[in-house]
Amino acid sequence: MSGLGKGITTASIGRLLKNRGYEVTAVKIDPYLNIDAGTMNPAQHGEVFVLSDGGEVDLDLGNYERFLDINLKSIHNITTGKVYQRVIERERRGDFSGATVQIIPHITDEIRHRIIRAAQEEINGGRKAEVCLVEVGGTVGDIESMPFLEAVRQMHAELAPQDMVLVHVTLVPMDAMGDLKTKPTQHSVKALRELGLQPDIIVCRGSEVIGPQTKKKISAFTDVPVKAVISAKDVPDIYQIPVELEKEGIAEVVCNYLAIENREADPAWYRVVSREYTNRVTVAIISKYGIEDVYMSIKESLKHAGRALSTEVNIRWLDAETLGPQDLADVDGILVPSGFGKRGVEGKIRAIRYARENKKPYLGISLGFQLAVVEYARHVLGIPDATSEEMEDGTHVIAIPGEEDASGAMHLGNCNVTLREGTMVAGLYGTTTTVERHRHRYEVNPEFARDLEDAGLAFTGFCEDRIEVCELTDHPFYLATQFHPEFRSSPTNPSPPYIGFVDACKKSRIYSGTGETPEW
Ligand code: GLN
Repeated sequence: MSGLGKGITTASIGRLLKNRGYEVTAVKIDPYLNIDAGTMNPAQHGEVFVLSDGGEVDLDLGNYERFLDINLKSIHNITTGKVYQRVIERERRGDFSGATVQIIPHITDEIRHRIIRAAQEEINGGRKAEVCLVEVGGTVGDIESMPFLEAVRQMHAELAPQDMVLVHVTLVPMDAMGDLKTKPTQHSVKALRELGLQPDIIVCRGSEVIGPQTKKKISAFTDVPVKAVISAKDVPDIYQIPVELEKEGIAEVVCNYLAIENREADPAWYRVVSREYTNRVTVAIISKYGIEDVYMSIKESLKHAGRALSTEVNIRWLDAETLGPQDLADVDGILVPSGFGKRGVEGKIRAIRYARENKKPYLGISLGFQLAVVEYARHVLGIPDATSEEMEDGTHVIAIPGEEDASGAMHLGNCNVTLREGTMVAGLYGTTTTVERHRHRYEVNPEFARDLEDAGLAFTGFCEDRIEVCELTDHPFYLATQFHPEFRSSPTNPSPPYIGFVDACKKSRIYSGTGETPEW
C-alpha cells in the first residue's frame, strides 16, 4: 500500500547491488490515469520530481536517483495514462489491423515493452544496467494495478527463473497487546497468488523488528524461505535502510535468485551516509502546504549537505500564512522553496525581508528566488507595488516577458547555467558553467534588472538569456536560484548551494542581528 516504503526498499536493494559493483537502473509504475505528475497537486501526491529531460515524475524517482547516483528519464516512470495514450494512438493509426484492442494482450504488451525499453536505456556515461528494479505502485488487489501485475506475471512466466525476482513489501503491524500481526501479509500474499504471482522475497515493514518466530510463521503461510523473509523496521534516516537490509542478508538472497555472484560490498557509501554529526542547525522552511513530502528533495538536499559538513539539520516547517517574526528569531537559516499561486506569498516575502535585514542565511529556490527579487524591489528599490505577474496586478518585476509568446510554457529540466566569475555562487560550484534542472514559467523582468543591480542585488547566474541567480554581498549568505539544485543532490554528491547554506547556518550564531524588532 502507499506510504509503506516500497520506493525506499526498491532504491535500497538497488544500492546493495550497486555496492557490489553491479550497474542498476530503476522503473516506477504509477497505476493512475494522469500522463505524468506535472499536473498533480503536491499536497495530495507529494513532490513533483523533475528529471534531466524535463520529465515531471513521482518522487520515488528522486529516491532512485539519490540512492543509485543515476540519471533517469521520463520513460522510467510508466503510468496508466502513458500506456493507454500510446495504445489508443496506435489504434487510431490502424496499427492493430482491425483487431479488437484489449487490455490483454494490447495494454499488457505495451507495459512489457515499456519496462524492457526503460531497463535498456543507457545510464550515466552510456553504460547499460545489469539489473533493473521495477516498482509497481499501489496495492495488490487494486483495480488500477491489475494490468501491471498481469504484465509482470506474463514476463515472469516467459523469462528464465534466474532473470526475475519478485519482492513483496508488506505491513506487519503490532497490536495493542504487543503482538506482531502476520494476517495482513497472509492475505496480501493470497491476493498475489490469485493473480498468479508467488513472491520470492517478503520485506516486512513496521515499527518493530520481525523476529525468527514471526519469520517462520510468515514463511509457513507463504512458501517463502525463512531466509527470504526480511525485517525492515522504521528507522529515522532513510539512508540507513540499505545498511539495515544488508544486515538482514537481503542482498545474498537477491543474488542467489538472480544467479549472480554475491560480491563483497564496497563500504564507501555507508561511510558517507553514516558520518558523525558534530554540530546541529535549525533551518526554517516557509511553506503553504501542510505536508513535508512536498519538499522531499529539499529536505534530502539539506541532509546531504549536513552530512558532508558533519552537521545535523533540523527543519522547522512554518506556515507561510501564519508565521511571525518570533518563529524566525532563533533559527539559523531561512529557506523559501518553490511554489505556485498566490496563497502564502506575503508571508514568504516577510520571511525573506527578515532574513535580509537580520542577516540570517537565506536560500531561495525558484519561487523563493522570484520573491527575493520582489522583496528587494519593494523595500530597497522602492517600488511598493512590486510583485509577480503570477500573483496580482502591480509592477511586475517577475513576469513572462515577450508579447508574442506570452503562452507561458513551463521551462522544464536541464539547462546550462553560466555563473559570473568571482561571485559567491561561482565559488560554491567551483566553476562558471553548470547544469541544473528547472520547473518554472515566470522569470525576472529584464526591464528592472539594471535598477535592481544598481540598488545592490547582484545577478550572478544566467540560463540562456534569463536571470537565474541573485546574491547579496553585504550579507553573510543570501543566495537564490531560479533552478532547483535539489534535484541533482545525493549523499555522495551534495549540491553546492545547499552546502553553502548549511555551512553559513553553522556559522550563523556568530552574526548579530540589528537588535530591533523588525517591521512585519
Ligand atoms: N510559480 C513560479 C513559476 O511558475 C515558480 C515555480 C516554482 O517555484 N517551481 O515561475
